[in-house]
Amino acid sequence: MEKMARESSVPYLFRERPILPFRSARADCPDCHAALKVKKTQTKTVHTLALGCFSAQETLLQCDRCDNQIIHAAEELNRLVPSGSTFGYDVVTFVGKALFLRHRRANEVVEELRARHVRLSASEVGYLGKKFVIYLALAQ
Ligand SMILES: [Zn+2]
Repeated sequence: MEKMARESSVPYLFRERPILPFRSARADCPDCHAALKVKKTQTKTVHTLALGCFSAQETLLQCDRCDNQIIHAAEELNRLVPSGSTFGYDVVTFVGKALFLRHRRANEVVEELRARHVRLSASEVGYLGKKFVIYLALAQ
């Protein structure tokens, strides 16, 4: 049963890293209501527990009529992964709980995550643990 569940999980099914497109749900400029234009696209590798490892191809939008220079990023991607990071919020939460609630050592967390198709080093676990504490402080 456990093997079947593991083999039908999303990360297992997408062993070849899929490319997932993301763009803002907003189509019009909030100021002048003109259609937003594509500013650029950028791709980053993202690791999450929910989806495993994938390439997120993000399309950034901007109004070319206003001078505000506001970039409209993909909201959905920002909910999955902190900006500037490659590890999802779910990985950060997993690391934080493992270190501080279950008192696992960094190497043990590396192994637990590897079993869930997320590969990272012990030093990255330490870094994400610190991030978890910061997010927790900000949330309170
Ligand atoms: Zn505008």
